[in-house]
Amino acid sequence: MSDTISFRQEIANLLYASEGEPLNTCIQCGTCSGTCPVAPYMDYTPRQIIALINQGKKEEVLQSNTFWYCASCYHCTVRCPQDINITDLMYALKRYSIWKGQHKEGLIGPTFSEAFVKMIVRGGRSFEPVLAPSYIFSFGMRELLLEVQGATELLLKGRLPLLPPRIKRLDNFKRMLGRIIPMGGLE
Ligand code: SF4
Ligand code: SF4
Repeated sequence: MSDTISFRQEIANLLYASEGEPLNTCIQCGTCSGTCPVAPYMDYTPRQIIALINQGKKEEVLQSNTFWYCASCYHCTVRCPQDINITDLMYALKRYSIWKGQHKEGLIGPTFSEAFVKMIVRGGRSFEPVLAPSYIFSFGMRELLLEVQGATELLLKGRLPLLPPRIKRLDNFKRMLGRIIPMGGLE
C-alpha cells in the first residue's frame, strides 16, 4: 500500500473526525453556491471547490481565491441538505494553504494570516502595527493617511502600545500551540 495520501484525503483529514467523510456526501446540488454572498467574486464557487477537491485538482484549488474570499457567514453550512460544514472546509483550506506555502499571488488574506499566526506564536497577543503592513498599502492614499492618523491618535492617548505585548508563561502557550497546529516554518 502507498504511504502517500491523496490531496482529497489530506483535506478530508483536516475536517473534524466526528463529521466522518463529508466531502464524499456532496451531491453537487449548488445550494451553497446559490446562497454564498461572495460567490460572484470567487474563482470557483463553493460547489466547484468541493468537486475540484474530489477530483484531486490540488493546483486549481490552492491557486484560487475562493477560500480567502470566504466571509465565514455560515449561510452555505446551514442550508446544505447534506449537513456539510462548508465554512469549516474553507478554514481548513486556508490552514492547508499556509502550511504548504502555496497560494494565489496578490491576495491580502495569506499575507495577513501568516503575519497574524507568527505574531501570536511569538508573543501570544495581537499587535495592530505588525499586522497593518499586510493590508494597509492595498488601500488608496486617502485611506492610508486616515489609518496613520487614527493610529497616531491612539498612540498619543496610550491606547496603542509602542512594543508588542507578551503574555505570561509564553513557553507553555507555545508548547500547547505546537500540539494543535502544524508550525512548519512559522516560528
Ligand atoms: S449545498 Fe452541500 S450538497 Fe449541495 S453542493 Fe453545496 S456542499 Fe454539496
Ligand atoms: S461561509 Fe463562506 S463560502 Fe459559505 S456562504 Fe458564507 S462566504 Fe460563502
